[in-house]
Amino acid sequence: MSYRLLITGGCGFIGSNLVRYLLDTEPEIRLCNLDALTYSGNPANLQDLAGHPRYRFVHGNILDRPLVEGLLRESDGVAHLAAESHVDRSILDSRTFVESNVLGTQTLLDAARTVWGRGSGKRFLHVSTDEVYGSLPLDRPDLKFTEQSPLHTNSPYSASKAGSDLLALAYHQTHDLNVVITRCSNNFGPYQFPEKVIPLFVTNLLEGEPVPLYGDGLNVRDWLHVVDHCEALWRVLRDGRSGEVYNIGGNNERSNLELTRTILELLGKDERSIRYVPDRLGHDRRYAIDAGKIREEIGWEPSRSAWPGALAKTIRWYVEHPDWWRAVRERNRQRDLEPAEAAPAAPVAASGQRS
Ligand code: NAD
Repeated sequence: MSYRLLITGGCGFIGSNLVRYLLDTEPEIRLCNLDALTYSGNPANLQDLAGHPRYRFVHGNILDRPLVEGLLRESDGVAHLAAESHVDRSILDSRTFVESNVLGTQTLLDAARTVWGRGSGKRFLHVSTDEVYGSLPLDRPDLKFTEQSPLHTNSPYSASKAGSDLLALAYHQTHDLNVVITRCSNNFGPYQFPEKVIPLFVTNLLEGEPVPLYGDGLNVRDWLHVVDHCEALWRVLRDGRSGEVYNIGGNNERSNLELTRTILELLGKDERSIRYVPDRLGHDRRYAIDAGKIREEIGWEPSRSAWPGALAKTIRWYVEHPDWWRAVRERNRQRDLEPAEAAPAAPVAASGQRS
C-alpha cells in the first residue's frame, strides 16, 4: 500500500537528499515537497525529478495554515525539515528564525492535530539538531550528548530549534500527536548550500580564494554523511517510539582545523590558503553525539560517513558540479547586494561553520 509523506523544506540540502533517498529506496512512497524557496531552497537540487510519478512540489510557506492543512489532509505523515538553518544569519536576524522555526513548526503541529484528529497515529517527524544541547568542553572527550542532556542553547538558531522541539513534545503530551524528534550532528554531502563550512571551503579553493577559519580552529564537530542521516530519518519515522527523541551522529569528531587541513590536502593546497577570522559570537566549542539509543532500539548505524573517504567523495561531487555551485554563489552574491528590505538575509561572506 502506498504511503503519502509530506516533506517540508525538501528543496534544501538535507530535504533534497531525503527526497532522492526515499524515491530510490521505497517503491511504495509518494512524496509531496512543501518549500518556500528561501535563499537556501534551490529547485535545481531536484530539477531532474520533474514529472516523476511519485513526486510533487508545492511552492509555499509552512506558516500558511490553510495550505498546510490541505496538504496534511492528503498525507499519512510528515517529515518536517523546513527551517532557517544558518547560525551566522541567526546572530544578525533572529526574527526570521523565530518565525520559520518556532511559529512555522507550531503552525504545522496545530494543523496536524486539527486535520488528523487526536490519536490518529499519523506520524509527525520533527527534524532537529544537536546544537540544542549547547557546547561540550574540549578537555572532556568522555562527555557526549545523550537524549537526556539538558537543552542549553547558545545561538538564536539553536534556541529557535529548541523552542520547536519543546512545542513538538508538548503536542505529543497534550494532543496525543504521534511525534518523533531527531537531533543530528553536522551533515556533509552533495547539494549543501555553500555558506556552510565544507562547500564554502571547497568552492572557495576551487575559485582560488582563501578559506575563512573561525578563531583558533579548534572547535570540534561530529560529521555525518547526509545520506546516512536520511536513512536514519526514515528509520525513526517508521520504527521510532511515539514521543521519543533520537540522537543521530557519525561518531566522527574532527576539529575545524583538522577538517580544513584535510580539505586542503585533498584539493592539493596548503595552509597558505587559510585566513583566520575573528571567532563567531557565542561559538560552541564541541558537539559530540551519543547515538546509542537509535542503534539499540532501531538498529541504525552510519555506513557512509567513513573519514576521509566520504569527505573525498563529497569534494569530488563539488568538483564535478561547478554549474550547480557557481549558480548558487552568484545568486547569493546578488541577493546580498540587494537593499535590506528586499533581502533580509545578512551577508555571510566570512562565515565558516554551519549551521
Ligand atoms: P537548508 O537551509 O539547506 O534548507 C532549508 C529548507 O527549508 C530550504 O529549502 C528553505 O527554502 C526551506 N524553508 C525555510 N523556511 C521555510 C518556511 N517558512 N516554509 C517552507 N520552507 C521553508 O537546511 P538543511 O541543512 O537542509 O537543514 C534541514 C533541517 O535539518 C533543518 O531543520 C535543520 O535545523 C536540520 N539539521 C541540519 C543539520 C545540518 O548539518 N545541515 C544538522 C542537524 C539538523
